[in-house]
Amino acid sequence: MFLDEDHEALEAAALTKQTLVDTQERMGMMLDLMPMGLLIHTRQGIIFGNQEAARLLQVPQNEVVGKHFLDFLSTHAEEATKQMEEAFNGRISVEPTEAEVRTATGRVRTIKLIAGALPWEGNPVVQLLLQDITDLRAIQDRLHLLAVTDELTGAFNRRHAFNIGHAMFREKNPVDGQAAVAILDVDHFKRVNDTYGHSAGDAALKALTQSVQEIIALVTSCEMTFARVGGEEFMILFSGAKPEAVFDVCERIRHAIEQRPVLSTAGTFRITVSIGVALRMETDASFDVVYSNADKALYEAKSSGRNLVCGAMPELRSFANSRETGVRM
Ligand code: GH3
Ligand code: MG
Ligand code: MG
Repeated sequence: MFLDEDHEALEAAALTKQTLVDTQERMGMMLDLMPMGLLIHTRQGIIFGNQEAARLLQVPQNEVVGKHFLDFLSTHAEEATKQMEEAFNGRISVEPTEAEVRTATGRVRTIKLIAGALPWEGNPVVQLLLQDITDLRAIQDRLHLLAVTDELTGAFNRRHAFNIGHAMFREKNPVDGQAAVAILDVDHFKRVNDTYGHSAGDAALKALTQSVQEIIALVTSCEMTFARVGGEEFMILFSGAKPEAVFDVCERIRHAIEQRPVLSTAGTFRITVSIGVALRMETDASFDVVYSNADKALYEAKSSGRNLVCGAMPELRSFANSRETGVRM
């Protein structure tokens, strides 16, 4: 009787033990196969790395143990290093951090990292969860670029430039320079389309964009944002610029566009632009007010004969008149 019971109890205990061993094995397998990288790390180095972690770091799985995760960090490593240090001091991170790792083969991957202390006896041990977000970031960057650029010219689009303008004008003018807006409009563009065709008109808009971008790339004295804000209308936002510099850049742009031949199947031609400029004289003038002043100056340039830079800046009249330029004040 007792013997039977003992026998049953022994069988049950053996079964429980086997179940525990199986569970442990299965848990190990699950950790190994899970689609997120997992590293178990002591201060000395990695003591376990699952398949995904090995794939991410491009290290054969049997060579992961003994390496140190920090050796893989490439740029933006400060946050990740800090999180890991905090984990060794017992903290379980809640906020994931982003870092770039240089894999064993030299490729740079962007990862999301969560570091946490493991409540084990003895030496501090941390677990690192790694998610490869390189492809996601690349898609996000492409989508962002699409959302902020004009398809035809590659310049920024109206919405993006206006967002920047509104944000820029929320701040007061910096002491060492001003915010300014310039609006460029192609002269008699309808005639270009009528004479050379719509695709030649498109080529002219691209050539204009190139001329402006080439000049902007050479200017180091202030920040500029260039955007296509309408059909044949463009805007330049200046930040931290001296008034003379704003007019100087606009005049160089006007001149460069006038000089640049546009090639088309219907023949080679040139275009000119009129430019209206407004500086933010009041430190708290809104973007809309300054934009509207630039628009008025553009109207002035058009009615004064086109291929001109105009701005209502009496204090710069001597600057404009001292040179043989297309600038009128
Ligand atoms: P103004 O000197 O007074 O500015 O004269 P304009 O002919 O340039 O002005 P208007 O506003 O009458 O004409 C603008 C033309 O720009 C009309 C339109 O067909 C053309 N346009 C607008 N967007 C595009 C575009 O993306 N490609 C081409 N090829 N033409 C465009
Ligand atoms: Mg026009
Ligand atoms: Mg126009």
